[in-house]
Amino acid sequence: MDMLTIGAFARASRLSPKALRLYDGLGLLRPARVDPDTGYRYYAAEQVERARLVAWLRRLGMPLARIREVAALPPAEAAAEIRAYWARVEAETAARRDLAAFLVHQLTAAPRKDTTMLELRYSAHSDRGRVRPQNQDTVYAGTRLLAVADGFGPAGAPASGAAVEALRFLDTEELPAGNVLNLLEDAVRGATEAVRDVADGGDDVGTTLTALLWTGSRLALVHIGDSRAYLLRDGGLFRITDDHTVVQSMIDEGRLTAEEAVSHPQRSLLLKALTGGAPAVPDLRLHDARPGDRYLLCSDGLSTVVPEDRLRRLLTTVPAPDATVRALVAEANAAGGPDNVSCVVADVREAAA
Ligand code: MN
Repeated sequence: MDMLTIGAFARASRLSPKALRLYDGLGLLRPARVDPDTGYRYYAAEQVERARLVAWLRRLGMPLARIREVAALPPAEAAAEIRAYWARVEAETAARRDLAAFLVHQLTAAPRKDTTMLELRYSAHSDRGRVRPQNQDTVYAGTRLLAVADGFGPAGAPASGAAVEALRFLDTEELPAGNVLNLLEDAVRGATEAVRDVADGGDDVGTTLTALLWTGSRLALVHIGDSRAYLLRDGGLFRITDDHTVVQSMIDEGRLTAEEAVSHPQRSLLLKALTGGAPAVPDLRLHDARPGDRYLLCSDGLSTVVPEDRLRRLLTTVPAPDATVRALVAEANAAGGPDNVSCVVADVREAAA
């Protein structure tokens, strides 16, 4: 067998010696022989082809774990895998293109000049689903506050109830002209305390919390966990929250693909939530409201079983918020209703004079 030193093999395969050492460590491309005395790596000439494939797949941006699988396949199957990978990259890029357009719009849109008063028209609905023995979700919708909380653990229902209850004063409180985000941050601190009381020190009990606070022209968002907020604007549906799940963090790091995540056994494992354990920092953000905007808050019992294009379709075709939340819950139950399902729908519209 023709043996090449790592330097010669690096030149032949157009991979750096450093990359070759990394790929050896990852089991992606093992040297044919490692000298037991010096530790020098030697490669077989036949390995050049595989090394080149690895280099090209890296250039495509494929995660290393996936490359290991693809490079081990016979050519026809490897080709099918690469085709599937690329189709998904394009789909993800399209979704990110929409998000980028939304953010550009959000950052450049001129402030509303007309002084028309805006108000929310809203509805909330929560359902046990078809499988779970109990509903551990809590929803709330009022003139200023919209909230969804998804409790877990033995005291999940009281935990989600306590979190929402701790925010409810915001619905009637006169809002300070200053920093509404500070107010919301304080309220979440109160919710954290309330959940901790319920959990009694156990971090196996807790809740997600996704809430919007209406200021009259803007919506302040607070979010922790894997419940979601969406905005329907100009016919496009934008998710405005990130899931705080272990699986989402693995996707962000390129260690897992979005399609693998759908069937991941620990897909609902939360990275952050309000629990009896160490306090976690929620996401806080302000959104400018526009007449015609429609917001959806939901627990994962909706988003894991109803695809986003279907959500968009229901949100665009059912006009009244009350009918919309019921249609959304019915859709989740029609898909098996494996979890408690909760939604809040709120429309921003010009206030009746
Ligand atoms: Mn849930």
